[in-house]
Amino acid sequence: MKILVINTGSSSIKYQLFDMNINKAIASGILEKIGETDGRLTHFADSKTGERKKVVKDGKIEDHQKGLNQIVALLLDREFGVIRDISEITAVGHRVVHGGENLRSPVIINNDVINVIKKNIPLAPLHNPHNLTGIEIAGSIFTNAHQVAVFDTAFHHTIPEKAYLYALPIEFYKEHKIRRYGFHGTSHSYVSEECSKYLKKNLCELNMITIHLGNGASMAAIKNGQSIDTTMGMTPLEGLVMGTRSGDIDPSIAIFLADNRNMSIREIDNVLNKSSGLKGLCGSNDMRDVLQRKNADDYLAKIAFDVYTYRIKKYIGAYFASLGSLDCIIFTGGIGENSSEVRQTICHNLENLGIEIDQDKNNAAGNEAREISVFNSKVKVMVIPTNEELKIAQETKNVIENQGF
Ligand code: ADP
Repeated sequence: MKILVINTGSSSIKYQLFDMNINKAIASGILEKIGETDGRLTHFADSKTGERKKVVKDGKIEDHQKGLNQIVALLLDREFGVIRDISEITAVGHRVVHGGENLRSPVIINNDVINVIKKNIPLAPLHNPHNLTGIEIAGSIFTNAHQVAVFDTAFHHTIPEKAYLYALPIEFYKEHKIRRYGFHGTSHSYVSEECSKYLKKNLCELNMITIHLGNGASMAAIKNGQSIDTTMGMTPLEGLVMGTRSGDIDPSIAIFLADNRNMSIREIDNVLNKSSGLKGLCGSNDMRDVLQRKNADDYLAKIAFDVYTYRIKKYIGAYFASLGSLDCIIFTGGIGENSSEVRQTICHNLENLGIEIDQDKNNAAGNEAREISVFNSKVKVMVIPTNEELKIAQETKNVIENQGF
């Protein structure tokens, strides 16, 4: 069975075509700068001999529809393609950011589902409209394939009221569904399952804190396999310090900025999402750059690193308290998987909580799930590479099989 996973953004489409018999992507790529003159499609494909081929096509891609047509042409291409006919694709799995309160698990897309995703646009105005575009154009191209939506919010639907309600007038929740939802659900769920396989223990017997550190960043407290709290809120802005997002701030700062810097609501929104976080503090949102500068004694880079890692340490304490007992901490995402320095700083001095890192294991590079805590650490500390696309493909396969297709 072949499943195409699509992540449609405002000006980009990321895709991976999975062969589910081997649980592996056989082609992948990204289409960038849709609508601009310098559009680019970068496509990778595995040949039958296992060698990876790459092709880059530059030039204006007018809209998402034309972009997806180009992707399909490459999937079918004699040299760079991996399928002979479009009908080989059984299903298309779409990453949809916001499922709101009603869409709590992956679903086959029909008109009702589309209407609910549309209804959730006010909760995710930057994402859901583009996800809908992807659904619409994929439906027009892959006319015989099942279309499945997999939601970033779904894994967190088990979070209890006491953790998801904001202490605001209750009408705000009742009328507008203003509450915490959480995101990165496919990643938190994927690494928690991989951890249970690695430890050979049932997921429902494990308490974990998962720490996803990519450009966006979030943590989840997972009790007996279910999410009970997470750092992102109604939107992905809340919680940890991120590449360009502030994470937690005093909400009054927005009012102060409006009063004292004459900033509009849109300008404030833009600053909090696009020029805060690591970038706001030291001018760079790339952790590799921040680390290099910090280690060359750049003061602002050091401050940015300290604020970034301290926030995560603080949430470990909070989630340990929420969970009551903790079996493992999992690092994932570009930073979590690759920076031993970030992991070391976060876990430093947590021995009293039973968290102790082994320096050598932490410094050893690797692409597989691995343990980095000392032999007798009460809490196992793990690095587990995430694979959100594979998880979306697996969920898509499960949904269509459960429906008897
Ligand atoms: P996205 O959230 O867009 O999927 P990634 O998960 O790829 O992003 O994470 C991107 C972040 O990972 C960037 O801040 C980048 O600097 C960081 N990163 C990648 N490799 C390393 C590394 N070797 N050391 C430190 N940070 C890294």
